[in-house]
Amino acid sequence: MVVRNELINYWREVHRRYGYQEIKTPMIMNRKLWETSGHWDHYKENMYFTKIDDEDYAVKPMNCPGGMLVYKSHQHSYRDLPLRLGELGIVHRHELSGALHGLFRVRNFTQDDAHLFITPAQIEDEIQHTIDLFDEVYSTFGLKYTAELSTRPEDSMGSDEIWENATNALRNALEHRGLKYVINEGDGAFYGPKIDFHLRDSIGRTWQCGTIQLDMLMPEKFDLTYVGEDGEKHRPVMLHRVVYGSIERFIGILIENYAGAFPTWLAPVQVRILPITDKHADYAYELKKKMFDLGLRVEVDDRNEKTGYKIRESQVKKTPYTLVVGDQEMADGTAAVRKRGVKDSEVMKVDDFIKYVQEKIASKSEEF
Ligand code: ZN
Repeated sequence: MVVRNELINYWREVHRRYGYQEIKTPMIMNRKLWETSGHWDHYKENMYFTKIDDEDYAVKPMNCPGGMLVYKSHQHSYRDLPLRLGELGIVHRHELSGALHGLFRVRNFTQDDAHLFITPAQIEDEIQHTIDLFDEVYSTFGLKYTAELSTRPEDSMGSDEIWENATNALRNALEHRGLKYVINEGDGAFYGPKIDFHLRDSIGRTWQCGTIQLDMLMPEKFDLTYVGEDGEKHRPVMLHRVVYGSIERFIGILIENYAGAFPTWLAPVQVRILPITDKHADYAYELKKKMFDLGLRVEVDDRNEKTGYKIRESQVKKTPYTLVVGDQEMADGTAAVRKRGVKDSEVMKVDDFIKYVQEKIASKSEEF
């Protein structure tokens, strides 16, 4: 829950800066909506259903229809665009039990979704804007990435011209950004081309995470419009995009990437305090309260075990900072600080230590 909340806080902070609004759409929606979106005909095996007042409802497997309804809730002018609606949407998909796998494939997960509504002329700029955001997020976690561009499949909707313009816009955005990418010829969805991002973790494994999907179909199906400079109604282009993909899956990737040794800002327990004997316990709890009140995640290990044993256990748990306190530390208002991965401990004033940790958290540093 700590890691999840930190990822969400960071997501909100980044998206606010990149001009997104956050929305929340219902978990259960009427059958009619799923018929309009096409999910009722094409995605039924993966959906969960319920009846309310004798009508069919479905638990959402995707956030898109909700996003369309929010867009349609009032009229838009070309001045509103790009309109970026982000949603941390909880979705449910029925997967075969044999396909479930740890945090990587689950039936209930949270997409860090967004639907971007733009004019056709804005496609290239908006893709670049989105790639900038992706780059910032992945770099924060020290993850390198490559991109794949999927182009028009044989069976697809829309004119040659629209497809060519859209695909060129995606390609130009990748090239302007200087991104390495491969082309998956004919591998796009029937309603638009897309870019996938593959992350490379610390030991070279790759994970598919982010996607930017251009969509020419949904705006048609839901009859989305905006009023152009000419005063006429026009059809917007829509982009679906996820950065983390699923928060649950991304946590799985981070656990693998860091091998459990999270940077301070993500570590579930940041500081573990070990009183040497019982008579140092009050001091340990006093420090704990002080740090907790300043927003740190801190625990005291006052079990009646040898200090060496407790230090080793704290190391095995990959706690970023282990503090040992005894007579001298109590008298001086200090603690013997062991940083993860550093062999020797150093005695620090408690206030200096707190400042030090706060700085590591604020900068999302992976250093100690
Ligand atoms: Zn969508």
